Amino acid sequence: MKKQTLYRDPVCGKRVNRQKAHIAVEYEGYVYCLCCPRCQQEFEGDPAKYAKKELGHKVRKRER
Ligand SMILES: [Zn+2]
Repeated sequence: MKKQTLYRDPVCGKRVNRQKAHIAVEYEGYVYCLCCPRCQQEFEGDPAKYAKKELGHKVRKRER
């Protein structure tokens, strides 16, 4: 079984499945999932306001 990663949309607070999320954006080393274009717009308009590290998932460094 595949492990599902649940993210919390930092804008609306909804829990989103990464596979079904509208988009995943990276900000300062953390990934945040946004459920819809509206949340994406909000997030990108003021990422510092919404990007809370406990809601994001740390980006793994590229493995070589
Ligand atoms: Zn949302």
